[in-house]
Amino acid sequence: MLHFAVAGSPLSTPAPGGTVEGIKQSSELGINALEIEWVQRVPDAPKRMAEIKAVSKALNVTLTVHAPYFVNLNAKEPEKLEASKKRILKALEMAELAGAKSVCVHPAFYLGMEPDIAFTNVQKATAEIMQKKPKLFPSVNLAYETMGKGTQFGTLEEVLKISKEFDIYPCVDIAHLHARTNGGYNSTKEFNEVFDVYEKYLGKKSLKNMHLHYSGIEYTAKGERRHLVLKKSDAKWKEYLKVLKKRQIEGVLVCESPNLEEDTILLQNNYAKLA
Ligand SMILES: [Zn+2]
Repeated sequence: MLHFAVAGSPLSTPAPGGTVEGIKQSSELGINALEIEWVQRVPDAPKRMAEIKAVSKALNVTLTVHAPYFVNLNAKEPEKLEASKKRILKALEMAELAGAKSVCVHPAFYLGMEPDIAFTNVQKATAEIMQKKPKLFPSVNLAYETMGKGTQFGTLEEVLKISKEFDIYPCVDIAHLHARTNGGYNSTKEFNEVFDVYEKYLGKKSLKNMHLHYSGIEYTAKGERRHLVLKKSDAKWKEYLKVLKKRQIEGVLVCESPNLEEDTILLQNNYAKLA
């Protein structure tokens, strides 16, 4: 099954909000998945995680997590690299306690280095993170995201190559790829090519358990500018839904439109109408 997830607590969540209330509100709206947005910081709160886990299980809401933006696994300064690994590990650890299945991470910036060198650095940091998997996050996936700017590590091939090596799966954000390539990745043919390449790297079965991001997006020559509501963007979202349906893609598709639940429901309803 493909779950459509809202990116954070729905805008209509009653005050004072928070993840537990957000899960309840999602369920109320007929949305059965949510990505927890720890993009500024990760709470170190095992008790709260247990509560999130209990509510999400009771309401049958699938959870994923977005790790902090402030990460660079290609950082030159050792302290920045250490802090990056720590933030990712904390997100993975709390995700495990909350019962989330996958944690999306923006892996790195090239900082003017050759992509090959950045790759080696990300690889080394990933090996260190993965050493902690058995103890800290045995059932959570580390998902490196495809990124929207040319200065960011995270082409489709890069995240697939590294994922294959560590037996993890990436977070494929088609909107980011669309922005990064100034308008590419926005047709039935190109959507299919993404899944073809994905399958080539990670195997046919991998298409049954994906972590996807999607939204409208504004971009310039430098790539991503900001996320947009689907209907105010050039995203060929109906075509994308058809490809998802036709190929029977499963897993979680997080809708990252600024109107959160509205576009999540739009995607979910249109997907459900497809034969
Ligand atoms: Zn992201």
